Amino acid sequence: MPRSLGKPVLAALAEPVTGAPGGGHYDLLILGGGSAGFAAAIKAADLGARVAMVEGGTLGGTCVNVGCIPSKTLLRAAAAQHGRVAHGFRGIATTDGAPDWPTVRAEKDALVAELRRSKYWNVLRAYPAITLFEERATFRSPREVRLASGRALTAGKIVVATGASAWAAPIPGLGAAGYLDSTGAMALERLPESLLVIGASAVGLELGQLFARLGVPVTVLEAEPRVVPAEDSDIGAALGDYLRSEGLELHTDVRIDRVDRDGAGYAVAFHASRETRTARAAQLLVATGRRANTAGLALDRLGVRLGPKGEIVVNELLQTTQPDIYAAGDVIGEPMFVYVAAYAGALAAENALTGQARRYDVASVGLTELEARARGIEPLAAKVPLEHVARARAARDTRGFIKLVADARTKRLIGAHLLAAEAGEIVTEAALAIKLGLTIDDLAATFHPYLTLSEGVKLAAQAFTKDVAKLSCCAA
Ligand SMILES: Cc1cc2nc3c(=O)[nH]c(=O)nc-3n(C[C@H](O)[C@H](O)[C@H](O)COP(=O)(O)OP(=O)(O)OC[C@H]3O[C@@H](n4cnc5c(N)ncnc54)[C@H](O)[C@@H]3O)c2cc1C
Repeated sequence: MPRSLGKPVLAALAEPVTGAPGGGHYDLLILGGGSAGFAAAIKAADLGARVAMVEGGTLGGTCVNVGCIPSKTLLRAAAAQHGRVAHGFRGIATTDGAPDWPTVRAEKDALVAELRRSKYWNVLRAYPAITLFEERATFRSPREVRLASGRALTAGKIVVATGASAWAAPIPGLGAAGYLDSTGAMALERLPESLLVIGASAVGLELGQLFARLGVPVTVLEAEPRVVPAEDSDIGAALGDYLRSEGLELHTDVRIDRVDRDGAGYAVAFHASRETRTARAAQLLVATGRRANTAGLALDRLGVRLGPKGEIVVNELLQTTQPDIYAAGDVIGEPMFVYVAAYAGALAAENALTGQARRYDVASVGLTELEARARGIEPLAAKVPLEHVARARAARDTRGFIKLVADARTKRLIGAHLLAAEAGEIVTEAALAIKLGLTIDDLAATFHPYLTLSEGVKLAAQAFTKDVAKLSCCAA
């Protein structure tokens, strides 16, 4: 239990506290120094606990080092390159030219290093109650871990936040041929002459799109009938068209037979619509999912249950089947998003330390119509193509749509599915509306500044009862 509930003393200029040679005992021990681990450590320190964080790789984990940050800055760089030739404005010259990939990559690396320093190392400096051990750990008992150096750490409670790693589907020949994962693709020294991507979920598609926008011919192979199969079906269909319009070659509903590699690159034999085909490229990226980092932790010996993909099974309090051990972040499986990991980390630490029973709740937002029906909710849906949104017209890019799903009985918003440039900037409005139980009438009655993409949310809310093509300026 925490010894006090006071705030930590800020010591902004101090070095982070690193582990003493002999190990020691802590109120809370956290395995993993990624987003879930940091959120857990900060919450625990705020509660007055003495915390040990054990990180066996690079401080900051996936998001800052090899995930969200490098991928999103490379996507923006690729968008800038693409915009030189594909900006949609007549009268503005298009200026072709090859990108300087080594510089783009170096800028990405510099941003990652800077954010790792400011958001992770400096944050540790600000919390003297958190001690960092830069080693791998494995469990010895429910309250004790052994570090690679042999040191032992004990704690009242332990939070496992060891994340997930890229996982390759079993494909004949793949192991011998070798392949890139997302980390390897973003670290390439030269732009590939061509790229094959296996897997069309978020990671495969964002990397496929970014290399295509940098001028690399990209072919994507997906086993499901459409891209981003976990998303609303309208999103998958429209996103496929969107990417094809940018020159990506997409094949869905394929069965991959084998992968071979020779001096010229990769050959991937696959079946599609009963035809046997072969796709060739200089490089191969496999993006078929991520699996929890639980191997080597010896969790099975402690009675901690693992799911079919190796993920730690937790209850709604994020407690494992071993009561002193909690888990949070990618290591507990889907949904694998950094903001979910951070929310879970803080919650796990709080429940572990205070004995409170705050429930982990991420499943209630963003339903598709199918998911709503599966929960016994009769859905109503309305969809507005972006050609009705003035901001998209003015920006000369009307690809995409905004689709809202409401509960037919209460008119409350239960899902929002967006395909648009900068969709991530407007989805929070819908998330807040769902969280607060707002109705489509509430959304339709709210001012949305003109011209903004978010005005499309108001239009979509109006589209439940009106033909938005017959509205004038400002969704009125
Ligand atoms: C290419 C890519 C792009 C992404 N983009 C986004 C995005 O835009 N938005 C978004 O929300 N999410 C994104 N994600 C997902 C996001 O990065 C993860 O959900 C998030 O980083 C998970 O955080 P975590 O703390 O659970 O795990 P991690 O950040 O992976 O941290 C786990 C840490 O545990 C350490 N560790 C593992 N085993 C041990 C051990 N035995 N002992 C000690 N330490 C150990 C690891 O070294 C690692 O640092 C992306 C992921 C990828 C791969």
